[in-house]
Amino acid sequence: MSTTLRPRLTVIGTGYLGATHAICMAVLGFDVIGVDVDADKVARLNSGEVPFFEPGLPELLTKALETGRLRFTTSFREAGEFGDVHFICVGTPQRGDSGAADLTYVDASVTALSRHLHRRALVVGKSTVPVGTAARLAELIRATAPAGDQVELAWNPEFLREGFAVDDTMRPDRLVFGVTSAWSEERLRAAFEPVLAQGVPVKVTDLQTAELVKVAANSFLATKISYINAMAEVCEATGADVRDLAEALAYDERIGGRFLRPGLGFGGGCLPKDIRAFAHRAEELGVGQAVGFLREIDGINKRRRSRTVDLVVELCGGDVAGKKIAALGASFKPDSDDIRDAPALEVASTLAGLGAHVHVFDPAAMENARRAHPELSYGTGALDVARGADVVVLLTEWTEFREIAPEAMAQVVGARRIFDGRHALDSGAWRAAGWEYRALGRP
Ligand code: NAD
Repeated sequence: MSTTLRPRLTVIGTGYLGATHAICMAVLGFDVIGVDVDADKVARLNSGEVPFFEPGLPELLTKALETGRLRFTTSFREAGEFGDVHFICVGTPQRGDSGAADLTYVDASVTALSRHLHRRALVVGKSTVPVGTAARLAELIRATAPAGDQVELAWNPEFLREGFAVDDTMRPDRLVFGVTSAWSEERLRAAFEPVLAQGVPVKVTDLQTAELVKVAANSFLATKISYINAMAEVCEATGADVRDLAEALAYDERIGGRFLRPGLGFGGGCLPKDIRAFAHRAEELGVGQAVGFLREIDGINKRRRSRTVDLVVELCGGDVAGKKIAALGASFKPDSDDIRDAPALEVASTLAGLGAHVHVFDPAAMENARRAHPELSYGTGALDVARGADVVVLLTEWTEFREIAPEAMAQVVGARRIFDGRHALDSGAWRAAGWEYRALGRP
């Protein structure tokens, strides 16, 4: 048994979170095995290919593989025999039949791992789960692991942001350790020793508080975005300018400017499903009223998508049938190829459903977008999809879209109409170049 300062780590589930965690921990000096049920993903990672877009991660994977400290496998037996600390990083998507979280993958992975835990070990949940899941999993482990109560469970919620995942893993704002014993805390401190050595603060809590920190944080962020988007709706009814409003609010340090950018709203594999799962769990616990506002936050967010479609139709003179629309962006945010619940693709696909010819370009998410939305057509660059367009619609605020020169794009389009779904462009510069510029919440 290894009880040295450097425990051997396994990471179960090697998607956006798990692959990043496994690679970064190996670079920080740990011996790590990543486990996934997806054999293709495992093969790609072993051959040095990161199966998704994340800045800086491919270089680190190469480095980690070269050290010999990192490998990937589909074998839970190998993981169980190898690891002292096992991180659970599998997906917890929204269930098809309700807003609740689907815990199938968490239960399956914990069960598969536990069967191979023959000695003292720590299982650490990182996935985002409804409060109460950890206590249930602790029971499951006790019942399944050959080592029984020698195996403990802790919760270490993950706050990384896609696009900044490497930095967020190497130097997070804080670490939260939900534990039930001093031994678990000591093991977690050892498993994060190089991170903690940089002075990263750690908050030690019980299991249920640790589970709640994550959904509480995401609920707060979603609320801040929907708050300013609600103000955008009011601005639209009054002729006020939400961008000026947001800037003026941000001077107040109690409010702050981050996450106060109005626009098409949030999407992705976390915020939307996390607030729905939280609202659902709170109802189960009899405290649904306490977070009932999250349903409204979700509603405001969804309305931004339909309002965008309405405004694009308006820009096209009331009908988009047969119109050529250039859609800039497909991923749910810049610097990511993640298209889960992406506002950009929902808007593009709705416009296509109304009869428009929608041509999409995204710097990283083309492959994912093509697979999910074969009804849309795809181009090779912003100017390429804008050729002959009746309207250009900016849906994801990639830097390369912000940097487009309005004069250059004016040369290729059919009509100089732009809808800035992310308040990412300099409206003055676009108007000066002869464009009709529209954005949510602005005159
Ligand atoms: P993902 O879909 O990219 O990855 C999940 C991985 O788990 C997949 O590779 C899948 O094949 C694998 N998997 C499924 N069942 C398995 C099993 N039984 N055994 C082993 N592997 C299995 O998801 P993700 O974005 O990495 O999210 C994972 C969790 O982390 C979720 O709970 C999410 O809410 C949370 N989270 C994600 C982020 C993020 O930015 N992506 C940030 C913080 C928290």
